[in-house]
Amino acid sequence: MNVSSAVFAKPAPMPALGKYVRDIPDFPKPGVVFKDITPLLADPGAFAICIDALCSPWRARRIDAVLGIESRGFIFGAAVAHALDAGFVPLRKAGKLPSKTIGVDYELEYAVARLEAHVDALEPGARVLIVDDVLATGGTAKAVAQLVELVGGNVVGLAFVIELTFLNGRQRLDGYDLYSLIKYQS
Ligand code: AMP
Repeated sequence: MNVSSAVFAKPAPMPALGKYVRDIPDFPKPGVVFKDITPLLADPGAFAICIDALCSPWRARRIDAVLGIESRGFIFGAAVAHALDAGFVPLRKAGKLPSKTIGVDYELEYAVARLEAHVDALEPGARVLIVDDVLATGGTAKAVAQLVELVGGNVVGLAFVIELTFLNGRQRLDGYDLYSLIKYQS
């Protein structure tokens, strides 16, 4: 059975998605193994399975808004928002959003950066799902969760395509519901 037909039959085991993730050593700097998800995006069946699996823990819980983290989080987040019948809120790098913003500074595995949201992006008490491609150290996601709470939202959970478990991001997000599809131990 190919992946396209599997989506209509039963969910593929998650390790099957791993073959659509490509390791790029020493990108964007020496020592980092970049997880390239473009092969997964390019395969319609694998992408459909991925979005369906990302949504499944949250279907029975009302989600008002999905927050996607620039830039690969936009791709997965927008598709998840559509599938959950929720709105989509882009969290953008500094200086990109046109209206009044609120922001957080955070550390990446390989950089320091800032993310911003429009101050009126969420309704008070909105039930929010945060979506990104990779959970590494958890610094980005933790900062985003704090930003959501600062603007009056309620973090229902976080969903990632990939979790780099050896970087212990999950510990940093202790207390939040966190779900990932593909786990790498090293
Ligand atoms: P962190 O804040 O350390 O959890 O880093 C998560 C963010 O950095 C996500 O937005 C990812 O897109 C990106 N990222 C971190 N490490 C990697 C990696 N090894 N491969 C691809 N993206 C990564």
